[in-house]
Amino acid sequence: MTRVARILCAFYGAVSVVLGYAAVDQAVHGAAWAAPVLAACSLAPLAGWLREAEHADERAIAQADADRAVRTRALRDDVEIGWRDLEACCCLQAWESHGTAHDPITCARKDQAA
Ligand SMILES: [Zn+2]
Repeated sequence: MTRVARILCAFYGAVSVVLGYAAVDQAVHGAAWAAPVLAACSLAPLAGWLREAEHADERAIAQADADRAVRTRALRDDVEIGWRDLEACCCLQAWESHGTAHDPITCARKDQAA
């Protein structure tokens, strides 16, 4: 949840508390019709709170999907580079040793690659 969303949630909570207090105050000292109206109004900010929480969840899911896509793309690139390196080698021994334990001039399997 972002900082702005947390501030909004705090604001929604404060408005709900104030409206709830006003509902109780009207029930005790004021007009009888105002108490249920204010009580109902005190629930409205909670809808905003829930919406902010839902929006934060959606953002977290979207961010996780984007991160997963980046990791998948990087892995796919690594695999593609690995296959390209393997296909560029003249034999498996050259690929396994990164060319260090292999002499391409005397390699008997030179024709088996590519
Ligand atoms: Zn070779």
